[in-house]
Amino acid sequence: MRGLMQQTPLTIDSIFRYTERHHGDKTIVTNSPTGPVRTTYAEWAVRTRKLAGVLDTLGISADGRVGTFAWNSARHLELYFAVPSTGRVLHTLNIRLFPEQLTYIANHAEDEAVFVDRTVLPLLWPLIDTMTTVRHVVVMDDGGDNEIPDDPRVSLYEDHIAAAEPVDFRVEDENTAASMCYTSGTTGNPKGVLYSHRSTVLHTMAVVQPNVFGMGETDVVMPVVPMFHANAWGLAQAAPAVGASMVFPGPMMQPKALADLIVDEGVTFTAGVPTIWQGVLPELAGREHVLRDIGCGGSAVPMALSEAYRERVGLPILQAWGMTETHPVATSARLPRRLFDGSDDDKAAYRARAGIPFMGVEVRIVEAGTTDELPWDDVATGELQVRGSTTALDYYNPDAGVELATPDGWMRTGDVAAIDPHGSVRIADRTKDLIKSGGEWISSVDLENAIMSHPKVKEAAVIGIPDPKWDERPLACVVVAEGEELTADEVISHITPMVAKWWLPEAVEFIDEVPKTSVGKFSKKDLRTRFADYQRS
Ligand code: ADP
Repeated sequence: MRGLMQQTPLTIDSIFRYTERHHGDKTIVTNSPTGPVRTTYAEWAVRTRKLAGVLDTLGISADGRVGTFAWNSARHLELYFAVPSTGRVLHTLNIRLFPEQLTYIANHAEDEAVFVDRTVLPLLWPLIDTMTTVRHVVVMDDGGDNEIPDDPRVSLYEDHIAAAEPVDFRVEDENTAASMCYTSGTTGNPKGVLYSHRSTVLHTMAVVQPNVFGMGETDVVMPVVPMFHANAWGLAQAAPAVGASMVFPGPMMQPKALADLIVDEGVTFTAGVPTIWQGVLPELAGREHVLRDIGCGGSAVPMALSEAYRERVGLPILQAWGMTETHPVATSARLPRRLFDGSDDDKAAYRARAGIPFMGVEVRIVEAGTTDELPWDDVATGELQVRGSTTALDYYNPDAGVELATPDGWMRTGDVAAIDPHGSVRIADRTKDLIKSGGEWISSVDLENAIMSHPKVKEAAVIGIPDPKWDERPLACVVVAEGEELTADEVISHITPMVAKWWLPEAVEFIDEVPKTSVGKFSKKDLRTRFADYQRS
């Protein structure tokens, strides 16, 4: 027997219509070098409808890929809705990628147009002739005086909007592609993850749940995680979907500017990678704010960072785990009720985990190279695999030999994890970052966590260095906090009670800064290159 309920497709334009109809009075603030620019969802909705008409006028194909090269802003939010709501595919280009990667990605996706912020135009324009399918470069003036090229491909966003009429749009098939993000990966070419309308709506409904980000109409949401990275963790759909006001940092990503925005605009929910919160901490400590959650993920969240926020800002960090291939949020570590009466240490330890998946995502850990599931005893570690309606099935036109799914239909994550009896995931490491010592694995993440709990340590990254006897041994690369002094012996004696003796780093190198990836994660690849021929002094 079939159910007798209506079949309304789960589409991004349905989120749009809901926000337009019910939350028009809520505000969107975008920071800029000349101060915050304010609008409302009502105005945003009119402009989004006009933008949909502009895409027609520009002659973008029915399922054409439309690139964006932009900071987090209200205009970017217009693109986030207008492009997929007209059946086209939003392709967010990461403004910090190497030129060759940008060219590869734009050509692989066959972008027909790129909408670019004026402040980052000099990064894109020199590449434009290498992007063979791009016919239009639409400049969004977010300030500054970068020269706008006199070229038939170039036009101005605001000119288009001024000349356009608002149009209606509706996507009928919820499985239509909506947006795509490329994930860097350390080997091979970047790989395209192609989200559908259905997966986007399901992810939106998932992340607003109290177990995850817990978002509602009373919130003021500030995505610090870039809209050009992994769908801004779903916040750019989630906030409109619940009628939460939004605050965008624009190009003003400096720690002080972010802290000021949190305080001045009454931000209640924000999210970004650990290195962002590391920088913001001293700027926010001791100030009055109304934050109720600081979401954080993308790489391991040091327990010391979360605890420092608890002590100095008044709330710990809310950790989440995911990857571009999981839309990206899949698990979150909101403190479970059973720990309400637990010790501070137990609570801190829980928050240092990736947490449990939301309903709709399943997790398992398996013995490497097999489909044999390992026990959920928080001891056994294996490759983390996931499946669900917000999990990628495959990459977009992948290179030969790239296999995302296992033979039995789970998605490989490349992360190594343990799972406790409650199903809470603890990420031990990325497969490629594990340190293989004498046939056993050492978790670089656990070592970094231990080292970063030293109050004089600002940042620490641990990599494997070749060792004739043990295969690899850990090298700790440590950045000392400003104005402090620290010796290798102090580092080692601090972590000795915390980790197994054979895990203790072979050596400690003091460096000025841990190199970062295009999205602000520790770049261990760069560190491994730098210390490839490391000789202990
Ligand atoms: P990239 O590989 O370019 O960094 P993603 O942004 O998709 O691409 O990163 C996903 C990866 O980030 C995950 O596979 C995992 O290794 C790491 N990650 C994400 N969240 C966490 C977390 N909470 N703890 C540890 N690692 C995390």
